[in-house]
Amino acid sequence: MEKENRVMDLNQIRITDPFWKEEQELVRREVIPYQWEALNDRIPGAAPSFAMHNFRAARALRLKAREPGFVPPVFTDVPFEVLPEDPARPEEGKFYGFLFQDTDLYKWIEAVAYSLINHPDHALQETASEAVHLIEEAQAEDGYLDTYYILNGRNREFTNLRDHHELYCFGHLTEAAVAWRRATGKNDLIRVAERFADYITRHIGAEEGKKHGYPGHEIAEMALVRLFGETGKRAYLDLARYFIDERGREPNYFALEGQPRPDWQGVEEPYSYYQAHKPVREQDEAKGHAVRAMYLYSGMADIARLTDDESLKNACRKLFRSVSREKMYITGGVGSTNHGEAFTFPFDLPNDMAYAETCAAIGLCFFARRMLEWDVRGEYADVMERALYNGVLSGIALDGKSFFYVNPLEVFPEANHRDLRKTHVKTVRQKWFGCACCPPNIARLIGSLGSYAFTENEDTLFVHLYMSASVTKTVDGKPCRIRMTADSSDPSGWTVRLTVDGAGDEGTDFTLALRLPAWCGEWRLDGADGAEQFVSDSYLYLRRRWREKDEVTLFLSSPVRFLRADSRVRENTGRIAVMHGPLVYCLEEADNGKDLNLLSLADGAGPGDVRFEEMDIAGRKTVALLAPGRRETPVNDRGLYFDADESESSPVTLRLIPYFMWANRGENEMQVWIRR
Ligand SMILES: [Zn+2]
Repeated sequence: MEKENRVMDLNQIRITDPFWKEEQELVRREVIPYQWEALNDRIPGAAPSFAMHNFRAARALRLKAREPGFVPPVFTDVPFEVLPEDPARPEEGKFYGFLFQDTDLYKWIEAVAYSLINHPDHALQETASEAVHLIEEAQAEDGYLDTYYILNGRNREFTNLRDHHELYCFGHLTEAAVAWRRATGKNDLIRVAERFADYITRHIGAEEGKKHGYPGHEIAEMALVRLFGETGKRAYLDLARYFIDERGREPNYFALEGQPRPDWQGVEEPYSYYQAHKPVREQDEAKGHAVRAMYLYSGMADIARLTDDESLKNACRKLFRSVSREKMYITGGVGSTNHGEAFTFPFDLPNDMAYAETCAAIGLCFFARRMLEWDVRGEYADVMERALYNGVLSGIALDGKSFFYVNPLEVFPEANHRDLRKTHVKTVRQKWFGCACCPPNIARLIGSLGSYAFTENEDTLFVHLYMSASVTKTVDGKPCRIRMTADSSDPSGWTVRLTVDGAGDEGTDFTLALRLPAWCGEWRLDGADGAEQFVSDSYLYLRRRWREKDEVTLFLSSPVRFLRADSRVRENTGRIAVMHGPLVYCLEEADNGKDLNLLSLADGAGPGDVRFEEMDIAGRKTVALLAPGRRETPVNDRGLYFDADESESSPVTLRLIPYFMWANRGENEMQVWIRR
């Protein structure tokens, strides 16, 4: 069976699911307006973004450049983050913020675009149109567009691809441009992206006279693939492929480009931080900065699919397994150290020191979805779902107003305030960050969720994630609507019902491919009489002529699961984590009192002893899991160390809540892995 499949246009999908609709509404009502204020530096007490300031300054400079006697700025050393001497009075015409600050605006536009597809909003579209217009006006005549270099001096553009993020900015511009065109039908931003892409193509590539470089922070690879998809221009695919092929080759480009720089100090670190330590086809272990790694692997998976490159496919498979089998938290968080926001060695997954950046979990969703596009296997969708429901959603507060950058699995707040090794872990979500990568990244993922839940090929609709939605699938030129409801209100399992709506009088022949999640104990199917039916790689395929109002119901049992970690995950020895369906659960102080370290499961307690109880957290309904446990009696009066006689404990009921809902009731302790 031909399994290759493609991403669906979001206009074909309407999400109606109460859970996910609520998240999309939070993005629309809270995140997007707040971020617009942040981009315009209008939020009292928050670190200013300067993103709009920079674009306005670039536009002003472009106008000035037309005047006689104009002298363009000449680059002198500028720090990675530039802040005004007087924060209240940034100088006009100067660049401020991180050198990749442009991406804040691009990510906002992308999130707005998805939101407009899901919920048309004339005023919001007008605001975003003005921002798009500003970007157009800031772009240099020759197509170059990065306000950091435009304002600081283009004489040094593309001289530090390793650290200076011009290609990263280009990538986010392009992602925004594609989304913007899909949402509004307008070509303005895509023209900007194309002009910049053409400029890059003239300066970077295999040909003599061009720089033989590639992005230090990846994303341009997958963005160019989208631009190719949108425009059909082969040059964009070729450039993406060039970036993939060139990366990590000897002599290392980052070393070559660095040597002429006055601040060059030799090769200070292995290039694994940038995934440039060896050619990508030889890489078999996830290494370096986790977000960069996820973005690279996503681009590799794209190119592997489009060029049917078996060696690249193999590298993608190995890297995916390196992540999912050795380097991923149970929450789908990846990148376990603060140092370099990076992967460490296999099975090194400390709970309280975790980094697990929200963007890295988002990147894992990107990677997994791209693997599914050419290799439909449950293992990819399971990881995508795990990250989405846990390590991604934990990044945003239930009211949509604050965000985590770092997503630990265990928190004892005093340690985060007093131990410098742990201060990267925040105990409550923050309103905004100077480096605000995560909040808009969540917004664009949640806004485009439909394209993760469903993919299609000519005659098959693939359902990877279960959520209530309606999807229009076109077969032989005939549109056919499929309504899906996914009901998880019964703790014993999920009931997924698919109803065919508008298959024409004759009916339509197509296949439904329904994922059988790893968390599902047993499944049962009703209403698929006469369908050709088989299971392959954890997908249930149903092929037949579907007629109007045909309905199939898939019941997926969701037993509570107590999970152990591989013994090499040393922190989790003697501990279990609890999952129910796709959700990871945790203990929080608000429900279980202080000193979660004293709690353990009762002897012999198993998943069958868990009870369910509806509860409300910050206005959102959820189901808590109640498990029999014990609380050790603290001993604080026998010296720091004392003879290990029997410890005393008393029975308690452990109350577990979904991990993504933690830290919505103020600062407190939290723990995912529980002593048994
Ligand atoms: Zn981030």
